[in-house]
Amino acid sequence: MSGRTLVDAFSRRIDYLRISVTDRCDFRCVYCMTEEMEFLPRSQILSLEEIYRVAESFVALGTRKIRLTGGEPLIRPGVVGLCERIAALPGLKELCMTTNGSQLKKLAQPLIDSGLSRLNISLDSLVNERFSELTRTGNLFQVIEGIDSAIAAGFQHTKLNCVVMNGRNDGEINDLMRFAIDRKLDISFIEEMPLGEITEHSRATTYFSSEQVRQRIAQRYTLIESVETTDGPSRYWRLAEAPDIRVGFISPQSHSFCGSCNRVRLTVEGRLILCLG
Ligand code: SAM
Ligand code: SF4
Repeated sequence: MSGRTLVDAFSRRIDYLRISVTDRCDFRCVYCMTEEMEFLPRSQILSLEEIYRVAESFVALGTRKIRLTGGEPLIRPGVVGLCERIAALPGLKELCMTTNGSQLKKLAQPLIDSGLSRLNISLDSLVNERFSELTRTGNLFQVIEGIDSAIAAGFQHTKLNCVVMNGRNDGEINDLMRFAIDRKLDISFIEEMPLGEITEHSRATTYFSSEQVRQRIAQRYTLIESVETTDGPSRYWRLAEAPDIRVGFISPQSHSFCGSCNRVRLTVEGRLILCLG
């Protein structure tokens, strides 16, 4: 294991790499993509071998945590084999993945067997029509089956990610909380960011702050501020009614988290993004 450390120009220790393994997706979430997306030609995207070699180099330079994301990582053929190779890198503490959950019914077991440590699964609505409206091509029941398959396969500390949009799904915050509590899952509420090209709505009209989310949750639960941190953008709270789960808030619009940033991103074309801002 190397004793090397990557430090950026602001003296922040960079020990977390997020890798986009594909720009493609089986969903077209209204806050992320347009309906008619044009994806990169295959000749421009990194091969699985190239992604592995970048991961290997970062781990040799002190990276301790890698997250595979996308697009939808689970629609890239060969992704389970990639997980197996990256998870085996000596020195890597955690290999995580963010997924929309659509493929988990068949892949949860192979993924846990590959050595993947943890999953974040996106879930913005529990109402079938609204889920279809927000994801355009997603199937709510398939995603719920995927979440339950991840639990059955034995994944621990799975986290749900929910992008809250004013007038769209803000009325479901406490139903999503109930869903998380019932399954003993952590949950994070995310403020919509100006990422991705969209045409479906104006982000100004759908902005719903983390503070507004907390006020909604406080109508039904007792939130207790926690000092827990993952050196990232999430701030965590616990619930008096369900102390096992963590409730996170990712607030890129209302709070700057640049000072504690510990991550860099690799795009599927092989560009390194040192800062999202
Ligand atoms: N397809 C996977 C998924 O949806 O979980 C992984 C990639 S997706 C880009 C990663 C996370 O970013 C998801 O939780 C998604 O909800 C969130 N996300 C996408 N576009 C966003 C936006 N404009 N603002 C805030 N979060 C966004
Ligand atoms: Fe696909 Fe994830 Fe973007 Fe939704 S948020 S369109 S699931 S990449």
